[in-house]
Amino acid sequence: MTPFNINKIRSEFPILSEKAYGKPLVYFDNAASSQKPKVVIDALVDYYSSYNANIHRGVHFLSQKASAAFDAVREKVKTFINATSEREIIFVRGTTEAINLVASTYGRKNIGQGDEILISAMEHHSNIVPWQMLCEEKGAVLKVIPMNEKGELMMNELPALLTEKTKFVSVVHISNSLGTINPVKEIIRQAHAKGIPVLVDGAQSTAHEIIDVQDLDADFFTFSGHKILGPTGVGCLYGKLHLLEAMPPYHGGGEMISSVSFEKTTYNEVPFKFEAGTPNIADVIALGTAIDYWNQLDRQAVSAWEKELLNYATKLISEIPAVRLIGTAENKASVISFVIEGVNALDAGMFLDTKGIAVRTGHHCTEPVMQFFKIPGTLRASFMFYNTKEEIDSLVENLTKAIALLQPHSVA
Ligand code: PLP
Repeated sequence: MTPFNINKIRSEFPILSEKAYGKPLVYFDNAASSQKPKVVIDALVDYYSSYNANIHRGVHFLSQKASAAFDAVREKVKTFINATSEREIIFVRGTTEAINLVASTYGRKNIGQGDEILISAMEHHSNIVPWQMLCEEKGAVLKVIPMNEKGELMMNELPALLTEKTKFVSVVHISNSLGTINPVKEIIRQAHAKGIPVLVDGAQSTAHEIIDVQDLDADFFTFSGHKILGPTGVGCLYGKLHLLEAMPPYHGGGEMISSVSFEKTTYNEVPFKFEAGTPNIADVIALGTAIDYWNQLDRQAVSAWEKELLNYATKLISEIPAVRLIGTAENKASVISFVIEGVNALDAGMFLDTKGIAVRTGHHCTEPVMQFFKIPGTLRASFMFYNTKEEIDSLVENLTKAIALLQPHSVA
């Protein structure tokens, strides 16, 4: 029993009635990108077909309408993540750009030779590489909070890793490859006790948790629109206002300036200081529609359903003899990653694909996680509230067939 009308919800996502190779589509690649409700798709079409114009600079009707629609989204995001001011919301392309922005501005200004930046063992590449680039440039050192065999951060190691050299902490809220929900509030508490700012990578968590940046006390928080029912190419960086105000700009160009002469340029106020050039107007507006969609959902019911899907899938998949789960943390989001003894994850993924089942295989942009578990990659099924137990049954049935077909000793 779903705690809400799942058929109604599914009917609101056009793609869920599509077929793949003539079979009903089973979409279990939600951690990579979520599907979009029709209202979000309509918002894009509506903008381009009825009020497409550049914003903030036009005196005409279309520009004013587009500007109002765009500006309203900042307020929506502010409420969605409980920021204190809409000025703390910066529109970016997604989590990757948000982290690069912080590394390039806050990082370049505040991190120097011999300083340490602390991340965790389960970061997505986008929360590793920008910091490595900064370390290379500044002669700083990247440190890592280790994890255990269940894929949980070893919090007992944290106090010793937060030293007088630590100048920044950047951690993932929910791991995309393991599903682990990290105790970010506690990490922030310990870092703040030593005066160290913390960025939380919310690329996965924003779709599964109710985000309250004030309660977390995060200094920076990032998310991507496409993972929360919105379009690709848009995301948000939240930053505490006093930090954003002290940071140098990121990209130079129009909109981010207050005045320009050949002798001197002065910068616009936050958030515009970080939004050079024409923004992604259509996608920001449609992100606002995605947030409206979230707001009319019963988030508690959604969470409960996702938990039920996770428990159901975990039980069935772990009962398959050849399967080993990767990521068995106590506190997990609706992501299940596993390897199959004697079967290449890619082969199994391709078999499932022929049955209309979309899963992801590989390292999921978390190569260090795969190195830790000494595996080349996993097969990952990630669920969203619009998924069903029948879809999981289909996954399990076809996984069993894939194993029978692909496992060498089962051929005879
Ligand atoms: N961080 C995590 C945990 C992710 O799962 C992802 C995407 O999969 C990213 C960062 C990067 O997000 P994007 O590609 O939308 O910038």
